Amino acid sequence: MSTNHRPVVVVGAGPVGMSAALALRALGRPATVLEAGTEDRLRPGSRAIFVHGATLEVLDRSSPGLAGDLAAHGLVWQTKRTFYAGRQVFARTYPPPAAGVLPHFTSLPQVETERYLLQACKAAGVEFVWNAEVVDAVAGPDGVTLTTVAGTRWSAEYAIAADGSRSAVRKALGVPMEGSRSDGWYVVVDVEEDPGDPMPVERVFHYAHPRVDGRNVLLVPFAGGWRVDLQLHDGDDPERLSHGDGLRGWLRAVLPPAYAERVAWASTYQFLQVVADDLADPYRRVLLAGEAAHLFAPFGARGMNSGVPDADAAAAAVHLALSTPVPARARAAVEDFALSRRRAALFNRDAAGAALAHLRPGPRERAALEEAARGADRDESFGHWLDTAPYGPRDLPPGNTIYKY
Ligand SMILES: Cc1cc2nc3c(=O)[nH]c(=O)nc-3n(C[C@H](O)[C@H](O)[C@H](O)COP(=O)(O)OP(=O)(O)OC[C@H]3O[C@@H](n4cnc5c(N)ncnc54)[C@H](O)[C@@H]3O)c2cc1C
Repeated sequence: MSTNHRPVVVVGAGPVGMSAALALRALGRPATVLEAGTEDRLRPGSRAIFVHGATLEVLDRSSPGLAGDLAAHGLVWQTKRTFYAGRQVFARTYPPPAAGVLPHFTSLPQVETERYLLQACKAAGVEFVWNAEVVDAVAGPDGVTLTTVAGTRWSAEYAIAADGSRSAVRKALGVPMEGSRSDGWYVVVDVEEDPGDPMPVERVFHYAHPRVDGRNVLLVPFAGGWRVDLQLHDGDDPERLSHGDGLRGWLRAVLPPAYAERVAWASTYQFLQVVADDLADPYRRVLLAGEAAHLFAPFGARGMNSGVPDADAAAAAVHLALSTPVPARARAAVEDFALSRRRAALFNRDAAGAALAHLRPGPRERAALEEAARGADRDESFGHWLDTAPYGPRDLPPGNTIYKY
């Protein structure tokens, strides 16, 4: 059985693993990524569409020009609207993003973000090992050994585990996840833009949409299509509403009818709100990043947008640890990463939790929503609250620093 050695190995070529590899290269370190799938593997839907300006900044620092490419491919909606039971309660239009500066956000399919990340990684000299599913990880005082399904061993001083929500590395290290699963079901659908019947590029939230029996509906544009979220009532059948006529029926009610025939992807979710007990192993040799470390409901778009700063912080910690001859300093660098990014993950979990709670109101909260909807014409702050609350608080977690190196 052969063993390869590298100073740092990243597990997983999702957006977080590739961001970690890019950050390592920007710091002058070699980066090797072990990925279970093939380079052309099919990714599950478009998932993260909302890429925050802070994420663009982090990526651009690792790979100058990458943020500009993502922003040029993505779109920015200038108008947002909120309706309550079919009546508009809030609308705001912003000026277009200024030329020559990064926008506050950009909206594009995750597969496209990953395509740009892969290009940037290849240009930066990242080594990719495809078809290399890691099935075991053993950490010790001097480093970590990873074993792939084919039996190849990879030893490294440090590993960054970005192998997603089912992280084999996290499981091998025995790190548990803490948190809960939301009760409610959601159907999330991507439809392709119909060039013959384009819709206005606006983000629209409907509380109690009258054409779908009072379910909440969110419509978000992205480059090339629309994300449509339907919040199911208790007792609805998620399977029926995410397939065939059941899916087309409600899509026709909330979009121009032709869009019901342009479904690119549909999936059902009950969202997990969980964070790993620790973001590093006891020897401080393996750093967990992205969904290997936390899972949030997508309202507020905190998944990939926190995974990228995890990756950046993990690369900075590994760089520091490799740079010092003092073992205690190396350990402290990883410790700082684990503490600060866990704090950020807990903050993000709570923020996404506030959004989820708003979307599943009890009787008192529902009365407050109805009161706000009635008052929105005379007092814009009611409409503003109705418009913003489905995404949770807007703040970034404390310590979401852009690392200076
Ligand atoms: C409906 C939905 C909407 C979302 N919207 C947003 C949004 O707008 N903005 C946002 O920021 N986030 C959003 N997210 C979250 C975002 O999709 C995730 O946070 C992001 O994909 C996590 O990236 P990752 O690299 O950690 O994991 P993944 O994307 O899961 O990538 C993990 C990689 O590791 C590989 N891998 C897995 N196991 C192994 C192994 N054992 N060995 C080697 N490789 C392995 C996988 O093949 C994959 O390539 C959304 C999620 C959903 C479900």
